[in-house]
Amino acid sequence: MKNYKIAVIKGDGIGPEIINEAIKVLEVVAKKFSFTLTFENYLMGGIAYDLTKNPLPDETIEGCLGADAILFGAIGGDKWDNLPRELRPESGLLRLRKSLEVFANFRPTKVYDELLESSPLKKEIIKGVDILVVRELIGGIYFGTPKGREKNRAYNTMVYSVDEIKRIAHIAFEAAQKRNKKLCSVDKANVLDVSQLWREVVNEVAQEYPEVHLSHMYVDNAAMQLIKDPRAFDVILTENLFGDILSDEASMISGSIGLLPSASIGGKSAIYEPIHGSAPDIAGLGIANPIATIASASMMLRYSLQQEKAADCVDYAIQATLKEGYRTKDIASFGAKKICNTQELGSIIAQKILD
Ligand code: NAD
Repeated sequence: MKNYKIAVIKGDGIGPEIINEAIKVLEVVAKKFSFTLTFENYLMGGIAYDLTKNPLPDETIEGCLGADAILFGAIGGDKWDNLPRELRPESGLLRLRKSLEVFANFRPTKVYDELLESSPLKKEIIKGVDILVVRELIGGIYFGTPKGREKNRAYNTMVYSVDEIKRIAHIAFEAAQKRNKKLCSVDKANVLDVSQLWREVVNEVAQEYPEVHLSHMYVDNAAMQLIKDPRAFDVILTENLFGDILSDEASMISGSIGLLPSASIGGKSAIYEPIHGSAPDIAGLGIANPIATIASASMMLRYSLQQEKAADCVDYAIQATLKEGYRTKDIASFGAKKICNTQELGSIIAQKILD
């Protein structure tokens, strides 16, 4: 029987609560599809700082490098906000991504019919939305040099090499090929040199994917079009900073931050995590929505473990649970039959896998 080693980072705040539900679901689906999972816990974030004075201990990096995939909860919280930048939980996360060389971040936004009313946008605009944002994750202005602060000025550098653009473009074209074969590359080529290079390289890579329809859009227009007509998009390819902003914008189309998963892939191992943070305001209350983390576990089954049927089964179980009106508090007012706590919703989704 195939066994996979999963490095688990529960992290801070609601991290442990939501990860426990994802593991519950994974154990059930593994049994159903006849494979096994070995979960190994590693410290990271605020809790790692409290216990080891390091937000990303070496042991965690080694454990992640040796795993088939990484399931990640969330890190951070007010308690650690005043630490020097290199000791803050968020620095640990950037270092982990860089150590694993996960250069491609996938953020799907799918609108569940059952939750059409939960979006701030009109349902006629969002019904059927299914977008995948592919964001470059370890380059661009977040990592470029020179960067620094002087007394009266500060600066960062947006820099991309041809190879960095090529590798993320290939990932995005391959994803588009498996979906609706539409790729929109977002840049600011009317102003930025780095965007002009981005556009040229994306056009060159496009020659290898003749069946994918490529378009280009300036980032300011993309921000507008995402709200005006989100159904026009299939796959959006963009660089690190633009992707950070656009993927958060796209996520709100679905209604709750508690619903959306992500995958960071392309490197030595892949990280699967909800798009939200550690939600310290609701930690320990048992009301966190575990769906984003369970959907991240489904992406892990699909992309890292090649267990497509198991992934489909988890996605179906989430949808069936929502269809029957089970909700956590954050999505409570929309067609709710029963308001569940975190554990109850996780158990209902796990049960649906067995039904
Ligand atoms: P957040 O995403 O943690 O919370 C924003 C709001 O959404 C809060 O009201 C929260 O209660 C709610 N929320 C988030 N997840 C939810 C869920 N699953 N179910 C129900 N409600 C949910 O963002 P924030 O408050 O800006 O950040 C809190 C901490 O998380 C900060 O320290 C931040 O740096 C960190 N953070 C970590 C990550 C990560 O681990 N990848 C990402 C973003 C923020």
